[in-house]
Order: sequence, then structure tokens, then C-alpha cells
Amino acid sequence: MIECPKCQKELTICGSINLMPSESHYHEITVQWLKSEHCGSHFYGEYIEYAHMSWDNDFIHQLSDEVDSKEWTRTLELLKECPNPNDRHCTCDIHKRFARYRFA
Ligand SMILES: [Zn+2]
Ligand SMILES: [Zn+2]
Repeated sequence: MIECPKCQKELTICGSINLMPSESHYHEITVQWLKSEHCGSHFYGEYIEYAHMSWDNDFIHQLSDEVDSKEWTRTLELLKECPNPNDRHCTCDIHKRFARYRFA
């Protein structure tokens, strides 16, 4: 589970988008929209999986600072315009826009 930094309760994943990595050593980048049902805080999360030559993969999960709820809702609404959020090969405008933006 992903813990809320403010209240230590579990964060709810409300949306996610899988992006084409911009650097060759990244295997996978997923941006998540996270919300604390307990204290009402909003965050972006970035899940990055590194591909190695070895058998096991490393990953890191970064959480953004607290996001203004209006801004968080606005970007989550944008996400709905993408037909395939979990397909990093999707070439829609939303994918192009988020690919250039670093959340965490
Ligand atoms: Zn919280
Ligand atoms: Zn898309």
C-alpha cells in the first residue's frame, strides 16, 4: 500500500497513466492520481521500474508534494480524454502532454 504522508493511512489510486520512458534505462513509468480518503489530501505518484540486465528489476515510487485539489481534479479530468491510459504506445494529445511533465 501507499501511505499518506500526512495521516499515514492508505492512499486510494483514482487514476493512472502509463508513459513511454524518456530515458533509455527506464523500463516503465506510471503516473498515479492518489487521494487520502481519511484527511482529504491529494498527490501525484510516480512509479518507475528500472530494467536491468539481471533477473530482478528495481523500482522506485515517488510521491509529489500535496497537490491543490482543483488542479488534481483538472488533470484527472484530462486523463479521461485518453482512450488507452495504460498503453504507453498511445499517441493521443494527453499522452504527449503528460510525457513531457514530471510530477514527482
Ligand atoms: Zn491522509
Ligand atoms: Zn493516450
